Formats: sequence, structure tokens, C-alpha cells
Amino acid sequence: MRALTVIPLKSGTAAVVDMPEPEPRADELLVEGIALGVCGTDREIIAGDYGWAPPGEERLILGHESLGRVLEAPDGSGFSTGDLVVGVVRRPDPEPCVACAHGQFDFCRNGRYTERGIKEIHGYGSERWTVETGYAVKLDPSLESVGMLMEPTTIVAKAWDQIEKIGSRAYFDPKCALIAGAGPIGLLAAMLGVQRGLEVHVVDRNRGGPKPQLVHGLGAHYHYTDVEQIAKQVKADVVVEATGAPEVVFDVIEHNAAFGIVCLTGVSPRGRNLTIDIGGLNRDLVLENDVVFGSVNANLDHYALAAEALGNADRDWLEQMVSRRVPLEDFEDALERRDDDVKVVLDL
Ligand code: BGC
Repeated sequence: MRALTVIPLKSGTAAVVDMPEPEPRADELLVEGIALGVCGTDREIIAGDYGWAPPGEERLILGHESLGRVLEAPDGSGFSTGDLVVGVVRRPDPEPCVACAHGQFDFCRNGRYTERGIKEIHGYGSERWTVETGYAVKLDPSLESVGMLMEPTTIVAKAWDQIEKIGSRAYFDPKCALIAGAGPIGLLAAMLGVQRGLEVHVVDRNRGGPKPQLVHGLGAHYHYTDVEQIAKQVKADVVVEATGAPEVVFDVIEHNAAFGIVCLTGVSPRGRNLTIDIGGLNRDLVLENDVVFGSVNANLDHYALAAEALGNADRDWLEQMVSRRVPLEDFEDALERRDDDVKVVLDL
């Protein structure tokens, strides 16, 4: 079976190689891989900056933005041959910590969680894969060509869920959201903001390409000007930061509405220093009751929220999110960043 693999922490080792056929255990589905979304985390792993192989193995099968079709399902599992499914990324730590013990592995406290295609468990970047029935999520058959957008949608479904939970600590009736970055996470965050009836502004560096059109297609506003200027102008109640760029992070924290909530989703590299007025920043956060929080990963509740959001989304708009579909063997081509790319997908 062909699979996209890498020797973690060694750049230049990514390769499509033959791996043993997966053998489903009694509680697992055997799935035929349809497609795999490629994201920044995959690029980081391939660059040798992140990632862990399964214990005792040299190579890790990459891929966590999955989409497949069930080949075999255990009787009584609720799944049948032919079902469209995605696999959940994270598994609880073995201890388990308090969060993992409550099904909230996305809030794992001790960092010993594992992640398919990222941390110590093989991913979904292979012609066939297995997944525990409890970590497989069925998708509406109409999402066959775009279902690999489910995993990034879970990330923003969690972000919005957290925003609403934080907002509900007092009277909360947000009107305006600012999304920094029009990559897949930013665009999907904008989609969920529009679904909630907010006035949504998206800011990105790109002037051309498909991003402005995608934003307008949602009924949201696109800006390619300076983030600071837009943040000052719109004074958003909610900000989702999806660039991870230090200057952008600072600008959106500094200029939001009173009782503003800023959700940070970008995993930025360390060592990019800025000189900032922490006293002034602290003063504003305190005097405005602002909240800045980080959000990563997603648990089963967020997969359910994401499935609902995708189900309500315009199919043509979701199609436009997928800029290129590249055969597995040409993965290097898929990794190349092109100006017009939004989500690049590997065809399994
Ligand atoms: C994935 C998350 C994962 C995170 C950190 C992201 O790309 O979408 O599921 O938790 O990387 O490994």
C-alpha cells in the first residue's frame, strides 16, 4: 500500500513508500482513502521541524485532514460499507489526565496525547487506513468532493464554541468579527461567523487570487490593507487570528472592542521578537474586560459542530476552497506554495 511518509525531524526524507496493509481490529473500520488536505503542520513536519514517529518505527505516515470511504465495518457499529468518513486527529493520553478522562483530549493537560499523522500514530495519508469506530465521523454523502475540509472546520468550530462560552460570562451580543488571514482556517472561521449572523471582515496580504472572491462569496468584507488600520476601524467584538504572524497578533489584541474576545489559532515559530508596550496592553485588557486565548485541536463535540456547519455551507463555495487536487505521487508539487492556493488536496 502506498503512503506518504517522513522520518520526523529530518528534512528531505518525505517520500511515498510501500507500507504494510492496515489490519482492522475488532472495533475498527477499514477505510479506502479518498483525499487528504495538506496544511502548515504537514509542511512543518516535512521540513523536519515537528512530528514524532510511532514508538519503535522510523517513518511516520503523514496526514490528518482525512476523507475516506468505509470498506469494512464491524456489525452493529453504526457504519456500513460505502459510508463517507473522516478520522479524528487526537487520542487521549494513556494516563489519562483530567481533561482526557472527560473526552476533552483537545485540552490535554500533560501533553502526552497522540495525534494521527503528527504525533506517534500513523496518519491518514495512505491508500487504505483503519480507524476506531469511536474516532470516525460519518459525513453527508453530498460532501464527497470537499469532506477533507472537515478537520480544519473542527478547528474553527472549537474556536467559535470557546468564543461563545467565554462571551457568555456576561451579556454577549457580538455584532462584528475580524478574521486575520484568509487561508483555509481564516476562511472557514469567516464562514462560521457569517453563519452566526455577524458582520465579518477578513484581512489578508493578498490583493489578487481567489481569496477576495471567496470572502465576498460569503457575504463578508475583504481587506488587503494594514491589519492595524482595519482593526482600529472595525473595532471587532470577536477576532480570530489565523496568521500566527507576531505583528498581526499584537495589532488585533491591541485594537478590539471593549469586552473583546481574541482567539489565537496560529502556531508561530519561536524567536520572532517585537518591542511592545506591555503596560499599555495590560491596561487596555483590564479596563475593557478583554480576553485573549489560544485554541488548538478539536474533540468529538467539535466534530459534530463542524459537520453541521459544513452541512449548512454552500457546496460551490466549499469547492472553490480546494484550489488543486494533486496525485499522491506528486506530493512535492502539492507542497509548493502558489499564490492562488487556498487548500491543496492530495488525491489518494
Ligand atoms: C491540527 C491539530 C493539531 C495541531 C498540533 C494542527 O495542524 O489541525 O489537530 O492538534 O496541528 O499538532
